[in-house]
Amino acid sequence: MAGISLRALDKVYPGGVHAVDGLDLDIDDGEFFALLGPSGCGKTTLLRTIAGLEVATGGTVLIGDRDVTTVSPARRDVAMVFQDYALFPHMTVIDNISYPLRIKRQSRSERRGKATEIGRQLGLAELMDRRPGALSGGQQQRVALARAVACHPALFLFDEPLSNLDARLRLEARTFLKRLQRELGVTTVFVTHDQAEALALADRIAVMEAGRIRQLGTPREVFGRPANTFVANFIGSTPMNLLDGQVRGETVAVAGGRLPIPAEAVGKVAEGEKVVVGVRPEYVRLSASGDGLAGEVSILENLGTTTLVTVDCAGELVGATVPEEDEPEPGAQVRLAPVAGRLLLYRAEGGELIGE
Ligand code: ATP
Repeated sequence: MAGISLRALDKVYPGGVHAVDGLDLDIDDGEFFALLGPSGCGKTTLLRTIAGLEVATGGTVLIGDRDVTTVSPARRDVAMVFQDYALFPHMTVIDNISYPLRIKRQSRSERRGKATEIGRQLGLAELMDRRPGALSGGQQQRVALARAVACHPALFLFDEPLSNLDARLRLEARTFLKRLQRELGVTTVFVTHDQAEALALADRIAVMEAGRIRQLGTPREVFGRPANTFVANFIGSTPMNLLDGQVRGETVAVAGGRLPIPAEAVGKVAEGEKVVVGVRPEYVRLSASGDGLAGEVSILENLGTTTLVTVDCAGELVGATVPEEDEPEPGAQVRLAPVAGRLLLYRAEGGELIGE
């Protein structure tokens, strides 16, 4: 098994697109690592460069302590699972799973024995003689995973492997994938544009934009303290409140009211400086009276056990998530107060978090 080190990695496509831009990254041995970002940010290119399916135009790729920058994919000891699973349609499930063992020239009885065992572990025992066309999307995904497991690789590379599944199956497959990775302990890099999936699965996440990493951290870090407004906007099922504000003494003037400057930003902002105030709806408390921003309830959105309340505060719309039993009436006058320690300040210029 092995970790991955990328040093000053570059990939410029022939047309001139700079898909990976001078990237440095260390992924630990046994880690479940997510590459997350919007369409076109370079995550698939990065994964394919680690796999050797794309050749880097600069920098190095190390798997363990071996420099594989110019090594062919077959000799990198990686197994890749693609979005469309890439199963062989004319082969049965058992032949698909045992294919990598055939390449390794194991005997027929040995490879059928191993494939049967892996298939059984992944709940495919009843399906071994079917062809991929006669399987559901979730079953095909498990066959693709079983084939990757049969390779016994040093690395798993997954390119959006759950994106063809419906919402419910996707949740099941997610749990399954996490358990499988824990059991096998194989270093795994997982590409997704779905922030909820990255938060649920990964030990650490790299949030990418335009071929670069904008934040590297645990799910808690990127959710709780986004390093810039790009990450703040991208992470979270309900969008983070990002409000224009201005420093006034010990406070920030924002949405027609005042909020105290967070402790870590004190002394790092100038009087009168324009800033962006960030706070997640989940960390905004709503009350009928008291401290905080004053406003009028405008929209209620049902999120299941909670409700997203949008409040008009002097023309700025601010979201707060409340338990369903505390839902206010539309038109009610309310106060909004951030939970202690959850208010973030960003530079108006460049959008970097203040006080890191
Ligand atoms: P998606 O989520 O849409 O798959 P991504 O983040 O995985 O996007 P990439 O597929 O890595 O992004 O693409 C990064 C950039 O490189 C994009 O601008 C894309 O248009 C470009 N690109 C990708 N493949 C090629 C190629 N073979 N030739 C030229 N440009 C390419």
